[in-house]
Formats: sequence, C-alpha cells, structure tokens
Amino acid sequence: MTAMNLMLMGLPGAGKGTQAERIIDRYQIPHISTGDIFRAAIQNQTEMGIKAKSFIDRGELVPDEVTNGIVRDRLAESDTKSGYLLDGFPRNLVQAKALEKMGTDLDRSLAAVINIHVDPASLMDRLTGRYICRQCGATYHKIFNPTKKAGVCDRCGGTDFYQREDDRPETVKNRLDVNLKMNTPLLDFYEKKDLLYQVNGNQEIDQVFQDIQKVLLGLEN
Ligand SMILES: [Zn+2]
Repeated sequence: MTAMNLMLMGLPGAGKGTQAERIIDRYQIPHISTGDIFRAAIQNQTEMGIKAKSFIDRGELVPDEVTNGIVRDRLAESDTKSGYLLDGFPRNLVQAKALEKMGTDLDRSLAAVINIHVDPASLMDRLTGRYICRQCGATYHKIFNPTKKAGVCDRCGGTDFYQREDDRPETVKNRLDVNLKMNTPLLDFYEKKDLLYQVNGNQEIDQVFQDIQKVLLGLEN
C-alpha cells in the first residue's frame, strides 16, 4: 500500500481548508501547514526556527533553504510514516525540487498532488460576495447568505451596506492573480511527474470530498 503522502492545492476560496480537515480526519494523517510548522519551529527554538525568526523579525522574506529546512525537520518526525498532508508548501519550483529530494532521503516521497479546481470567475463571486450593514454590522453574502428582502438588513432594517477592503473586487482579483501566477508552474511540474489530480471544486463540499476519496482509493490499490 502506498503511504498517503499528499499535497493539497487550490486558489483562495476553493475550499482547501474544509477539504484538508476532512482528509486528515478520514485518513488519520498529520496536517502539515506551513504557518503551523513555522510557529512550532520558532517556539521550540529549533536551529531552523531561530533562523526563520531572524528574517521575520527584520521584516524580510524567509529564504527557501530555511523554509525547506523547517519542512524537512517536520517530515522527519515519526508521525508522518504512514502519510501526511502538505498544505501551503511547496510554493515555488525551488521548494518543489527540494521536497522531491527530501522525499527520497526520508522515504516520504509524494504520492499525489490534489488540486481543487474552481474557475477564477466563480471564485470572484464567492470571494467578493460579502457585505456588511453599516448600521448594525450584520454580515451577509450575495450568494450564500443574502438579506431576506433585497437591500434591507434583516436585523435592523438598515439600507446602507459596505464591503471590507479584503472583499472588494480589485483586492480579490489581485490576490487571485498572485496565486494563479504562483500555482501555474507547480501544476505543470506535478503534471509532468504524473502526480497531479484535478478535483472539481465547483460542487457541494460532500461531493468534492467524495471525488478526493476516489483519487485516494486509487492510490491505496
Ligand atoms: Zn443592520
């Protein structure tokens, strides 16, 4: 049986967090998210953690070799023996190649990269849909949670709404563009390695998870 050595990809709003939770729960593998392992390495003052902190404290980007070192340390722990779910790493080809090498060295090679695919236009709808009542602060979403009567707050009857900076179309578009640019070379890289599995993220959460399970069942056999 192949170990469940997985990496999960998806643009912001594609539902990656929800699916990550389901995968680790169903397969009982550790969730290796870069944010979490950075925090842990810094807190435990590992060699790599101390290095990472020195860059963060100076407001500089953490270099790939330090990020790779933190991931390597984490993958070397014994709980990843029957699998792991990488989330937020690798973010570029230098990191992807480093991961390949550590996978070989540690006997933790990737078995599959799952990309939850949602077309950017639908992501725009999802991510720019949130609006807030100026009078009482109630939050709504154009698609997922609209006001019962159009343009009128359910809670206070207010008619003046606004959007947070983060939810505005220009901001969201920019965030998606940055991520698309980052993901495209990685998707090509893993496609060529025959490790990439595309899952349609334009479906109900349960259906997306079923499709992911189908991919993983194929790995088990
Ligand atoms: Zn209101």
